[in-house]
Amino acid sequence: MGRRNKCKAKIRTWDDPILKQACEPVEVGEDVWPIVRDMLFILTNDKTGVGLAAPQAGHTKRIIIISLNGFPQVMINPELIEHMENTSTRKEGCLSYPGRFVEVERWANILIKYDTEKGGFGETRLINWPARIFQHELDHLDGICKVYPQAKENQNDN
Ligand SMILES: [Zn+2]
Repeated sequence: MGRRNKCKAKIRTWDDPILKQACEPVEVGEDVWPIVRDMLFILTNDKTGVGLAAPQAGHTKRIIIISLNGFPQVMINPELIEHMENTSTRKEGCLSYPGRFVEVERWANILIKYDTEKGGFGETRLINWPARIFQHELDHLDGICKVYPQAKENQNDN
């Protein structure tokens, strides 16, 4: 009877065109629970997932979830406000491209802000691994994934 049993959300993978779309901002008062529910369902059913963006769950809205200290943090209309100059380069994977791992350079120290699903907002500094996860998920909201960039590059040839 739980809401989880009714949820049929499936991770979008590989050449699914939704992964190349830019997402729409969430409007004030918009009910995001159906989207967040799908995202949490996918994320908590995958033991390796540390973050997820709405298009990976089939929704073109600017919502991400990142695991901070094992707790999934929902971020609505997330933004990178500023970053320090230092970067780090590490291998990154993505639930939408299973088995692929690619070296990606990211800002190592960032200041971010976002709205919460309760109507509040958060502003916080992320360093190293959480900063990497955030930037990875933020890319997804613009139709970008550096773990599997081929299709995006082909689009740019037009
Ligand atoms: Zn990803």
